[in-house]
Amino acid sequence: MSNLAQIVHNPPVYEDGIGLYVHVPFCETKCPYCDFNTYAGIEAQMPDYLRALTDEINGWGRVLSHPPVRTIFLGGGTPSYLPAHDIDRIHATIGQSFDIEHPAEITMECNPGDVTAERANTWLESGVNRVSMGAQSFDDELLSMLGRRHTAAEAARAFQTLRSAGFVNLSLDLMYGLINQSFAQWSNTLDAVMSLAPDHISLYSLQVEPGTPLAADVSVGRYSMPDDDLAADMYEEAQRELSANGFSQYEISNWSQPGMESRHNLIYWHNEPYLGVGPGAHSWIDGRRFWNLKSPRRYTTVISNSYSEGALDPVGSMQLPDGPVEHIEITTPEIDIAETMMMGMRLNEGVSLERFKKRFGVSMDEVFPQEISRLQSIGLVVLTDKVLGLSERGRLLGNEVFAEFVGEGKV
Ligand code: SF4
Repeated sequence: MSNLAQIVHNPPVYEDGIGLYVHVPFCETKCPYCDFNTYAGIEAQMPDYLRALTDEINGWGRVLSHPPVRTIFLGGGTPSYLPAHDIDRIHATIGQSFDIEHPAEITMECNPGDVTAERANTWLESGVNRVSMGAQSFDDELLSMLGRRHTAAEAARAFQTLRSAGFVNLSLDLMYGLINQSFAQWSNTLDAVMSLAPDHISLYSLQVEPGTPLAADVSVGRYSMPDDDLAADMYEEAQRELSANGFSQYEISNWSQPGMESRHNLIYWHNEPYLGVGPGAHSWIDGRRFWNLKSPRRYTTVISNSYSEGALDPVGSMQLPDGPVEHIEITTPEIDIAETMMMGMRLNEGVSLERFKKRFGVSMDEVFPQEISRLQSIGLVVLTDKVLGLSERGRLLGNEVFAEFVGEGKV
């Protein structure tokens, strides 16, 4: 980075609107590859969680003076595993404490096994207008290896039930580069997905995360690591097939039909303000990045203690050892520049030169003159008079390009 002395930091403010993320830490079973902050077998904590969550939402509404909410994302975990009327209660609480924009995108993550026609109707009535379903694969053998509770046929039926109930914005999550997955199996999964005609698709390659049961299986030789070259071929096949079926890729892992991009995730990628509520949820508000206690039990206990003393103030509690916020970091302009570049370069649209200048008071090529020219010279980025974005080759080497903008360049 150069010319940092000229920076006039002017990041977007929460008063103009936020994305609201609600973390639901419950899953019926824990998938062996998953290292998210989610738990099986703690359903008895759901009532306490709901009380704490609604208290936290109300607390933030007061502290931030009821700002506009542009998008809501119920993630986890498995929000569809909560009793359906709890979704209504969460939405009603958000409506009392925040100014929900109309139309706001309201997404709920869902497990195929939780979908019934009755629940789908309740979710719709609760205001959910977008469902993101974790299908992961349409191959029963691979679903079983992943420890998923559903079959391919059940996922297809769940999707159709949601569509028949009236959801017009449905997304599917899929995983590729799975252990023992053949190219033909991936191709069949893509065909099955195309026959369902979702509006949005997210693709993730399997990561063997340390500390998971899957990592233990790999370390004792029960499974061998997925093949990186085969995974790259699968990604390219998906790019071809999705494009042939009218999808546009708008981010490294995300494709949509026209106008159906995830507005909530675009808030993250544009590095705009968001608030996360629930155990372990992350926020970026008012120049501060912070996150809550991960343990659902500690989260509910801390909030119920604060609330019973009539003193729940999430911002104030950041300073207290017993508050729901576990950690807080001040975002300096240098950090904000690096994060804006790292997140924005993931998007096919790239990082807007005009937005960059508005946010930092200095042009991108004044801050990154050597970095941009080096990445251009090796064909990893494309610079126009409006944006800096990844080239086709850069998309395959995204992490190396991002590292350049956080001072760790090594391509
Ligand atoms: S359902 Fe999703 S969040 Fe829950 S354990 Fe499986 S992968 Fe993790």
